[in-house]
Amino acid sequence: MATYECLQCGMSVNATCAKCNAELINDNIQIENSTIQVSKCPNDHGKIKSPSCCGKEMISKN
Ligand SMILES: [Zn+2]
Ligand SMILES: [Zn+2]
Repeated sequence: MATYECLQCGMSVNATCAKCNAELINDNIQIENSTIQVSKCPNDHGKIKSPSCCGKEMISKN
């Protein structure tokens, strides 16, 4: 079950939290003037920038 997918080449990845094994959920944060797409642990273990492929953010399948 893929969590993120690239619309250009079809690459897909599973993003899970290494602490609790939960699938990361999609979220957005505001930094200065721009919105950054991030993946966060549903159990509040933190967040990472969403994976990107082909120079674009991969699309969350959640
Ligand atoms: Zn790609
Ligand atoms: Zn976690």
